[in-house]
Amino acid sequence: MAEHGVTGSPTEPLSVVVIGGGFAGLEACKELTPAVRKGLIRLTLIDKENFFQFNPLLVEVATGAVETRHIVYPLRSFCIPRGIRFVRNKLRMVDVERRVLVLHNQLEVPYDRLIIAAGSSTNYFGIPGAESCSFPFKTLMDAIRLRAHNVEMWELADQAESSEKRRELLTFVVAGGGITGVEICAELVHLFRHTMSRLYPEVPQSLVSVYLVEAGARLLPPAVRDAHAEIAEGHLRQLGVNIVLNRRVVSVDEDRVQLDDGQVIPAHTLIWTTGVRGQTLEAPWPWPLGRAGRLKVDAGLKVAEGVWAAGDAADVTDREGRAVPMVAQGAIQSGKVAAQNLLAELGAGQATQLLYRDLGYFVGLGKRSTIASILGVPVAGWLAWYLWAAAYLFKMVGLRKQIEVGLDILKTLLVEHDTSQIHDRRRMLRPRDLDPVLTRPEEL
Ligand SMILES: Cc1cc2nc3c(=O)[nH]c(=O)nc-3n(C[C@H](O)[C@H](O)[C@H](O)COP(=O)(O)OP(=O)(O)OC[C@H]3O[C@@H](n4cnc5c(N)ncnc54)[C@H](O)[C@@H]3O)c2cc1C
Repeated sequence: MAEHGVTGSPTEPLSVVVIGGGFAGLEACKELTPAVRKGLIRLTLIDKENFFQFNPLLVEVATGAVETRHIVYPLRSFCIPRGIRFVRNKLRMVDVERRVLVLHNQLEVPYDRLIIAAGSSTNYFGIPGAESCSFPFKTLMDAIRLRAHNVEMWELADQAESSEKRRELLTFVVAGGGITGVEICAELVHLFRHTMSRLYPEVPQSLVSVYLVEAGARLLPPAVRDAHAEIAEGHLRQLGVNIVLNRRVVSVDEDRVQLDDGQVIPAHTLIWTTGVRGQTLEAPWPWPLGRAGRLKVDAGLKVAEGVWAAGDAADVTDREGRAVPMVAQGAIQSGKVAAQNLLAELGAGQATQLLYRDLGYFVGLGKRSTIASILGVPVAGWLAWYLWAAAYLFKMVGLRKQIEVGLDILKTLLVEHDTSQIHDRRRMLRPRDLDPVLTRPEEL
């Protein structure tokens, strides 16, 4: 491969590869696009999926408030107009010596410069049964699967003969009292109260319960003000959620969840929203890892010569020494700085260090109730909900998605959630001790 700067006189432009078309990867690609248009670099985006997924609305997808396809955007539609090559494939390992990325099917993609924005993965902390018996909540497929499973539990409860069995089927445990855990509890209760209760008249509502298990002494991450954490806790308790603080899940089975004080909750549904770690490949990353197994970077997002990392994949401390949280705004800001520094090294633009700007947060409490902090100003209730809807619509990629999600959100004001169960039932986690008549494989 020719080695030259973008301002030099190359015979062939440098090959830049971005791994991961999430918030960080797309921001890096946007920043690099002018250099592509000028013919200074060749840019390739590699992602194992062929779409970008808007995680902040995954809870709404899992509860049927927003349609599955509406929160994703095809990566080719992003890449092709910008002159970026897109490869839908999974990175298996990086061969640093040869500067080659080894993908699934042994396909090799050479690179001169690399930005790693492969996001994070779920951490089960080695808890027995957690990986095999819980529902992770990170991807669109996780949301689709959980949506179908919840409906399955209601269908089975409708046909179960004993109250005890029904109670077990209708007990939903959420591990992790972060933003996602709080939001999913609130949305589940609203779904159950306002939609399921009407559609399953034979099922006594007194048998339905939602637990939220959190290892810390309060809900929500430290960045959320104490007053908002208290509002969220009070709101969930009022909705009837059983909040269990200072407790950890220690083992999970298909029909029970055990906590560290010995308490056993008979349940077929454990939703795992706790524990994130850096993205893992088949072979270990060839560079040092920092906190939570994420790639160590400096404040300029550099991993090693010719390699940068951004977003959840990177353990970033900004130029003022603050750890950058694993949130979309951290990914967007770091993706931009990584690309700027890559270009600066090629002679285009100035090198820079990340100065993380915390823009605030939104925590949905269901039924058009939200708590938020916007640029440090606390907002709650309906106003916060309107701002939440406006902000997320603004952030959706493309007009089509903005219209689709906008209409979905509008629909939640007028009609109940969609409970159609569209999923391959053979791939769903099912309780092993259900009535065999209901679970014969050939009838699934
Ligand atoms: C349910 C949920 C709700 C959230 N809500 C919010 C919120 O409300 N506000 C907020 O700020 N943040 C939220 N977050 C966090 C936020 O989504 C992440 O911090 C953000 O997505 C990180 O961006 P990223 O680009 O680093 O990674 P991602 O957006 O995860 O993108 C990583 C990309 O890399 C690809 N990839 C991974 N491994 C490979 C591989 N081996 N080969 C090829 N491609 C690969 C993936 O397919 C993906 O497209 C939420 C996260 C979740 C899971």
